[in-house]
Amino acid sequence: MPTETELQLLFAELNNFYFNGETPVCRIRYNARFSNSAGRITYSTRPVLIELSAKHFRDHPEALRETLLHEMIHAWLYNRTGDTGHGADFRKKMAECGLTSIYHDLGNVKPFNESAKRYILRCEHCALEILRRRLPRAAMSCGRCSKQGYDPRFPLTLLEVTETRELGVTVPRAAFKSQR
Ligand SMILES: [Zn+2]
Ligand SMILES: [Zn+2]
Repeated sequence: MPTETELQLLFAELNNFYFNGETPVCRIRYNARFSNSAGRITYSTRPVLIELSAKHFRDHPEALRETLLHEMIHAWLYNRTGDTGHGADFRKKMAECGLTSIYHDLGNVKPFNESAKRYILRCEHCALEILRRRLPRAAMSCGRCSKQGYDPRFPLTLLEVTETRELGVTVPRAAFKSQR
């Protein structure tokens, strides 16, 4: 596993290559406590903090670069427009960076609170991605590719959302609205 100093160098390299150096300065560190997310970005700190799960990347070092890139897109986009989601702008940049899914595949890392998790169903055939709150109970096929009901030729791959983003402290809803 790279050291935190090596991660910072990787960040600089990716920033030059994919972002023309426009990603704001980020502090990158491992968080040993994460067991149900691969990465986290906290926008409320200066600099922005990107944390990566030590536990996860010890077992899946090959996924580190992609996860770091994913979090860097968040930092880059937030800096430009204040956007924190995975919308059209995020997906466009993601494609430029060669990433194929908005969600990270965490392999066999178990979530500690499964009820709070969300799931993704992805069609490998047409790249459709559907968000689900619960695990599907039955086999499902892609509604776009399957012409007549369930079709095992177009199965949906099950992914788990493994990223958390901290947006800052909670504020009363009224105060939040008046800021806009
Ligand atoms: Zn994300
Ligand atoms: Zn499909």
